[in-house]
Amino acid sequence: MNDLVAAYKEVRSSTAYLSLGCNLGDCAANLAAAVNKLNEEPDIEVTRVSSVYVTEPVSNLRQPDFLNIAAGLKTTLQPFDLLHACQRIERELGGREGRVPLGPRTIDLDILLYEQVEISHKELELPHPRLLERAFMLAPLAEIAPEAVLPGGGSVGDALAALSDQSRVEKKGPLPL
Ligand code: AMP
Repeated sequence: MNDLVAAYKEVRSSTAYLSLGCNLGDCAANLAAAVNKLNEEPDIEVTRVSSVYVTEPVSNLRQPDFLNIAAGLKTTLQPFDLLHACQRIERELGGREGRVPLGPRTIDLDILLYEQVEISHKELELPHPRLLERAFMLAPLAEIAPEAVLPGGGSVGDALAALSDQSRVEKKGPLPL
């Protein structure tokens, strides 16, 4: 029976990519906890995790550098349900409490891509509206999925090559999970 459930999930599952970021507290531990929580969700399987990148804040510059990663998922959740799962994990890890917009945060989960889905809604925009402008999102994503195709055409690798964002993005080692 478990094999049948697994086969059903495989057929019904979609590929999505997330950006995870942190610049408050023990960020390697926060990122690892978020990846583990995603993997513990019954409807999510984390299939790829990028290296950790140290990145400079792109606005509100008087705050610490960020650690960023990208993660690839297989999920049977639809896009809004995936967003709500990400927001629940952020709350569980204290990432959404009393925080300033674009300011420091213990954990931030953003959906970058969900298959070829395009959504323009106040709660959810897909692809992520800043994906093509932000090296801290695109560089980790290009490491794990350079071949992924953007809804408008073109690959993630091509988008990184065309990126004009010059902010500092330093690739470090693997995330200790
Ligand atoms: P942030 O402060 O970057 O975490 O932004 C959070 C807000 O962005 C939430 O209110 C979400 O509903 C909204 N949002 C819109 N599109 C996305 C997306 N692709 N991934 C995550 N949050 C999104």
